[in-house]
Amino acid sequence: MKQYETAPFWETKTLEELNAYEWEALCDGCGLCCLNRLQDEDDDTAPIYLTRVACHCYDIGAGGCSDYANRFERVEGCMRLTAERAAEYTWLPETCAYRLRQQGRALPSWHPLISKDPHSVRPHGMHALNPILESEDIDLEDYIVDNVIGDL
Ligand code: SF4
Ligand code: SF4
Repeated sequence: MKQYETAPFWETKTLEELNAYEWEALCDGCGLCCLNRLQDEDDDTAPIYLTRVACHCYDIGAGGCSDYANRFERVEGCMRLTAERAAEYTWLPETCAYRLRQQGRALPSWHPLISKDPHSVRPHGMHALNPILESEDIDLEDYIVDNVIGDL
């Protein structure tokens, strides 16, 4: 009997249709959403500036949140990404897999689901920006970088 290959879930399902496992697997682990951003607090239409300063809860060496299960309790500004927010959060990098799928676009060849290599994202993620960890001594304004992520 001839066997037919079925298309993978990330191509056939909308974000709303993903189960919990598929939702987590869609994240490419780039860590770019864990970098601090700056915006005029009195003007939510003002430009958002990307910095290369990572959230204090991020493990730069391991390339991931150091306390993912408790991230919302640990860090006040950590936001839960949902299908709806993937459309609203314009500050997410152009390469964010949730953003791409929300726009009906294909995942890049370096996404771990495609490459089957969990480290293939590194040259395209936070590490490309030479990140440093947030601390009390750091003035975020000194670490603003051009938002070139989408061009990587
Ligand atoms: S708490 Fe974890 S997931 Fe949330 S921004 Fe910080 S490092 Fe990223
Ligand atoms: S930017 Fe998107 S794909 Fe990258 S780590 Fe954050 S949620 Fe995952």
